[in-house]
Amino acid sequence: MSRSSLFDLIADKVVRRVLPSDKPRKSWVGQGSGKPCDGCEKPITTTEIKLGLPGDMILRFHIPCEDFWRTATANDGDGSRR
Ligand SMILES: [Zn+2]
Repeated sequence: MSRSSLFDLIADKVVRRVLPSDKPRKSWVGQGSGKPCDGCEKPITTTEIKLGLPGDMILRFHIPCEDFWRTATANDGDGSRR
């Protein structure tokens, strides 16, 4: 999967509210345990980033997927939210 189609996939999930766009309260970096990424849905066997969101929700991403999610939610949120 190319980088741009991966970004489109994650941005689409944010638009459809499959992925939340809340600002994370905290984040952890660690070794992936093979659980699927919330962005691309592939297992994470390398470094994973976990984000703690409001409401005790945990998101789990590959490093590039987390970066795309942050970019997508920045476009979704700031300025347009009422
Ligand atoms: Zn991923």
